[in-house]
Amino acid sequence: MRIAELYVAKREPVFSLEFFTPKNETGRRALFRAIERLLAIEPAFVSITCGAAGTTRQRTADLAIEVQQELGVTTMAHLVCTGTTRSELDETLRHMHEHGIHNILALRGDPPRGETDWTPVEGGFAHANELAAFIGERFDLGIGGACYPEKHHEAPSLEADIDNLVRKVEAGAELLITQLFFDNQRYWSFVEAVRERGVDVPIVPGIMPVLNLSNLQRIASLSPGTSVPSALEDALRSAGDDDETALEAGVAFAAAQCRELLNDGAPGIHFYTLNRSKATLRTVASL
Ligand SMILES: Cc1cc2nc3c(=O)[nH]c(=O)nc-3n(C[C@H](O)[C@H](O)[C@H](O)COP(=O)(O)OP(=O)(O)OC[C@H]3O[C@@H](n4cnc5c(N)ncnc54)[C@H](O)[C@@H]3O)c2cc1C
Repeated sequence: MRIAELYVAKREPVFSLEFFTPKNETGRRALFRAIERLLAIEPAFVSITCGAAGTTRQRTADLAIEVQQELGVTTMAHLVCTGTTRSELDETLRHMHEHGIHNILALRGDPPRGETDWTPVEGGFAHANELAAFIGERFDLGIGGACYPEKHHEAPSLEADIDNLVRKVEAGAELLITQLFFDNQRYWSFVEAVRERGVDVPIVPGIMPVLNLSNLQRIASLSPGTSVPSALEDALRSAGDDDETALEAGVAFAAAQCRELLNDGAPGIHFYTLNRSKATLRTVASL
């Protein structure tokens, strides 16, 4: 099933979960345990991220296949252009398609570790819209794309970023998932600006229940431009080394944010889980 259709047919909020590809066997076992626990919230789908290296691309594909086959949950694989030629992307897409993965999040990708600038490889793509078009021309697959309520950090303006987002949707993205954010007002202003451009695909808020202050600080450094509410930062700071109190503060903030988003008509929530289950389980339980 194409994931975008889930939002059309929805009766309940559509919850989805994002996991990163672990580096080793211990991480893989922990990931499966986390997903198994999180099945309790009946996620409509899960997604598996893709790192910058070619080897990660293959690992992401194989993990997505394994999760879908072993746990029976619809799985979307992230696919990035970083360091990859068209023929390599074609090969990975073919492999996933043959093994039942029917949904791809088409991304340009982050720069490889240690690099700050993103450059395309010869024979590869420069932007996610090119990858989305490539997928649509060759495969019968559901295609998603990323979007940024507070602007992608490389874009000169939010307007320019939305121009490029329109290209991504025209190229075939039928579902958009946002970068994580903490300020719902920014999400709604963004949705309004995108809708004014005639884009009507679901724009799914990406939410992360924050675990502690260092987690929040890391998120802020990895997602330049994300506004961090001082109330959340203060609550995490005053929790100090008390992990449980910090987790409670992160969950309380995320639950209030999700409740408000869903009440105001958001199509669902995509949780950034960091491969852990507790914070997301508690957030959904308190909705
Ligand atoms: C939900 C979600 C999941 C993610 N998963 C991963 C992952 O698994 N692995 C990973 O490495 N990263 C991931 N990322 C991060 C993402 O790869 C980075 O933010 C990256 O810098 C941009 O990717 P994009 O697909 O949005 O790129 P693009 O849509 O290509 O946009 C990148 C920049 O180029 C501009 N642009 C876009 N199209 C054009 C065009 N045609 N001409 C000129 N300029 C253009 C945009 O305005 C933007 O500034 C994810 C992000 C989100 C929101």
